[in-house]
Amino acid sequence: MKYNLSRIRGKTAYTTQEISHLLKVNRKTIFRWFKEGLELLDTSKTPKLVMGNDLMLFLKAKREVKQVKLNWNEFYCLHCRKAVLAKRGSEKTDKTGKTIGSNNRSQEIISATCKECSGSVARLL
Ligand SMILES: [Zn+2]
Repeated sequence: MKYNLSRIRGKTAYTTQEISHLLKVNRKTIFRWFKEGLELLDTSKTPKLVMGNDLMLFLKAKREVKQVKLNWNEFYCLHCRKAVLAKRGSEKTDKTGKTIGSNNRSQEIISATCKECSGSVARLL
């Protein structure tokens, strides 16, 4: 999926609702982006706010991810911008709520902590 990044203003803080309107994505998708490493402006505040710049960097990095081949035990870290290993014991598997394929297998996401920068990383199964 290609998002229209030119609609994002770098120095503006967006709520998840605004991002959802701006990029025409489901809010569930945005919450998945948080798991994948999209940074929040201030994690203690509600509503959740994201700086336009962080959103742009995140989506650009997501495009790069597709060009990186990962081994079964590797994650692509959006902060390190390369394939990394997870910190031992940090992996956690969740269901994304989506089903994929002709046999409707439920999609899962593994989230973990980057061994190198301690940022959050995730990989879909
Ligand atoms: Zn990292």
